[in-house]
Amino acid sequence: MRGNSTGVLIFSENTELALELLTVASPLADKLGKNLASVVIGNDTELAAKKHLSYGAHRIFTVSNPSLDYPYTEPYVDIILQIAQEEKPDLILVGATRNGSNLAASLGQKLGVVSATECLDLKLEDSNMIVERMYYGGRFVIRQQFKNKPWLATIPPSRFEAQPSKNASNGEILQLSVSPRSPKTKLLEVREREKGTVQIESADIIVSVGRGVREKEDIKIIQELAETIGGVIAGSRPVTEDLKWLPGDAQVGLSGKKVKPTLYVACGISGQIQHIVGMRDAKVVVAINTDPEAPIGEESDFFVVHDLYKFVPALTKAFKEALGS
Ligand code: FAD
Repeated sequence: MRGNSTGVLIFSENTELALELLTVASPLADKLGKNLASVVIGNDTELAAKKHLSYGAHRIFTVSNPSLDYPYTEPYVDIILQIAQEEKPDLILVGATRNGSNLAASLGQKLGVVSATECLDLKLEDSNMIVERMYYGGRFVIRQQFKNKPWLATIPPSRFEAQPSKNASNGEILQLSVSPRSPKTKLLEVREREKGTVQIESADIIVSVGRGVREKEDIKIIQELAETIGGVIAGSRPVTEDLKWLPGDAQVGLSGKKVKPTLYVACGISGQIQHIVGMRDAKVVVAINTDPEAPIGEESDFFVVHDLYKFVPALTKAFKEALGS
C-alpha cells in the first residue's frame, strides 16, 4: 500500500481481462507513486479478488450480490462511479468487452470526461497520459493526450498478456454494500452457445475462409484442414455476415474478433485492412490466394499463389500422412 491515494482503478467483468488490465496498470500506478485498485462485482467475488492481489492490486473493492452476477450496465456504472468519486483515481481502465464498452461510455458521461476506446498502448509522459489507438479502420495508429482527469480508457481482450506481479503486495480486500439502481433491461434467459461455435479469440491455430470459396458446402475443405492441424475455423465478413456460411462469432476483423494465434492460415481472403486489423498480431501467417497482387501477400510470412481448391486438400493430405491420421 502507498498511503490512501489511488492512481489507477481497473474493472472488467471478464476475469482474465481484469488480470490483463492489472498487468498494464501496475507500472503506471508505480510511476504515479499511488495505489492500484480494482473492482470485482458478482455473486462470488472472493476467488477473483484474491487473484487480483497476486496480479499487483493494492486495494480490491468487492460487491457481492447474486442479482449482479450478470453485468447489467446501469448498476455496474453506479458502483464504479461511487468508487471513482471516493477514490479519485488519475486513470480508470475498463476491459473493452461489449458490456465494458457500454459501461465506459456511460461512466465517462457521468464523470464528464471522454472515454478513449480500444487503446493499443498507454504511456505516462511528463505527467500526461498518452494513448495509442487505431484510426481509419486500422490504417493508421494515432497518439492522443487526455485533457481532463480522470483519464478513462478501454483495452481490448488479449492485447496484453496477464503476468502475476513480482511484488504482489499484501493489499486489502474491501467489501462494499451498495444499493445500485435496477437495470432497465430484464435478463430472460442464459443459453449455452450453439454447438459448433468456437472461441476464436483464444485459439492457437486458425484456418480462415474468405470469398475465394465459391459455395457454402466447399467450406468443408477448409474445415478438414483445420481439424487435421488442430485448429478452429474462422472467416472474413462476406462469409460470416453477408452469406452467413459461418456464425458471426467466427468473424475476424474490424467489426469481428481480434485474434492472436500462433498460426493463421488465410484461404481465399484478399486482405482488406478491415480484415487485417483482426489478425495482424498472429505469429505466423500463411495465405493461399490465386491473385499474386492480393494485399494479404504483404501481411503473410508464406504466400502461396495457388487455387485453394487444389492446394488446401493437398496440404490436408500431406498433414494426414505426416501425422499418420
Ligand atoms: P474478397 O475481397 O472478395 O477476396 C476474395 C479473395 O479470394 C480474392 O483475393 C481472390 O483473389 C481470392 N480467390 C478467389 N478464388 C480463389 C481460389 N480458388 N483460390 C484462392 N484464392 C481465391 N471484413 C472482414 O473480413 N472482417 C471485418 O470485421 C470487416 N469489417 C468491416 C467493417 C467495415 C466498416 C467495412 C466497410 C468493411 C468491413 N469488412 C470486414 C469488409 C472488408 O472491407 C472486405 O470486403 C472483406 O474483408 C473481404 O473479404 P474476402 O477477402 O473474403 O473477399
